[in-house]
Amino acid sequence: MATELAIFGGPRTIGQQPPHFRWPRITERESAAVLRQLNDTISIYGDTGIFGDFERSFAEFHGRKFALLFNSGTSALHACYFGLELSQGDEVICPTYTFFATVTPLLQTGARPVFVDADPNGNIDPLEVERAITPRTKAIVVTHMWGFPASMDEIRSIAEKHGLRIVEDCSHAHGAKFQSKIVGTFGETAAWSLQGAKTVTGGEGGIMLTDNERVFQNALLLGHYNTRCKKSIPKESPLHKYALTGFGLKLRAHPLAIAIAMEQFRQLEVFLAQRQRAAAILTAAFTKYEFFNLPRPNGNYPSWYAFIALYDSKKTGVSRECLVRALHAEGLVEVDVPSSTCPLHDLPLFTSPPTELFSGQESIAVIPKSGEWKAVEYFRQAIKLPVWSFADEEPMVTKYAEGICKVADGIKLLAEIC
Ligand SMILES: *Cc1c(COP(=O)(O)O)cnc(C)c1O
Repeated sequence: MATELAIFGGPRTIGQQPPHFRWPRITERESAAVLRQLNDTISIYGDTGIFGDFERSFAEFHGRKFALLFNSGTSALHACYFGLELSQGDEVICPTYTFFATVTPLLQTGARPVFVDADPNGNIDPLEVERAITPRTKAIVVTHMWGFPASMDEIRSIAEKHGLRIVEDCSHAHGAKFQSKIVGTFGETAAWSLQGAKTVTGGEGGIMLTDNERVFQNALLLGHYNTRCKKSIPKESPLHKYALTGFGLKLRAHPLAIAIAMEQFRQLEVFLAQRQRAAAILTAAFTKYEFFNLPRPNGNYPSWYAFIALYDSKKTGVSRECLVRALHAEGLVEVDVPSSTCPLHDLPLFTSPPTELFSGQESIAVIPKSGEWKAVEYFRQAIKLPVWSFADEEPMVTKYAEGICKVADGIKLLAEIC
């Protein structure tokens, strides 16, 4: 007979005290890098030192011309939109299912987000993108959700057909590849967060890449001034005269953060390889059960920012919350239900914005669809697990896989208490 579920008083699968997942791992290399930086300088005015090192290696890794660090991914996204010269009257097609900071900085330009539904992987659906295009549409924003690359071939051909620009939010997808091409290289511009939970992290930070010099110069002037702008904006550029003052914001990164991020970036491919192994262990557990659906890699190389399993409670009669309670009782406390990363189209900022603050924008968002959203169903079904990045954590991944199978094997029994 199978062991009794912990929720009914049986033994827990994992007795070890949480946390079972720690990210990032701060080792001697990060500590040494921070100390080195501390003794060198803690404010960088130009593109020298650790800023130059990080920007050059990040640009080179992606084969792009211009890189610009920021104090956050949100700022880097703001700079992408500002760089494209979006303004009032423009529409930008955005995924409804993404972290809200993909879209919120767009509001600063006056352009309107047009929310579009998700495909089965949770990524913006190319068919819905095409439907949402109007004569005012200027750009399409893509987030590679949870590290799964969006359908960039289709999105690119739609963009080409309609003369639209693409912005990629790669904050979940450092180093992920669509087919064999790295994400962040498909659009006019792309942004990455370097925040504490992200795959390349400095605690806080962000970076944008582009090949378009004008986009780069606009972005530079949005968040930087003086030394950096004077150096990077040639005298012949019509924008050079603004180099002293910039355009009004200061969004510069902190050198200590970038010193950490540099060490993390050097290890990116090692982390990603280990995540593939962890994800394979979890995948093998979940795919045994017909009431779980997993996003499909479709021949791409996901970065496995998180592991998402879609749970169909209609097939079991057991609610998702009850399933999660049973998993927690087994000691799988890192199993989570995504909450703040949710469909955006019915958030107050977009449905009832403070018009006195966003003056002149007749309404903030366009929500071209009523009725059922696939993104909402995805959100309702999703459970989320961490994806471990270190070989010495593999036994823990295996324990999680065991706990999942134990609860899934006993799912019918949960019906009594749910
Ligand atoms: C983290 C994140 C952001 C925002 O980045 P910050 O560095 O926290 O400002 C934007 N988009 C997505 C998809 C993210 O995950």
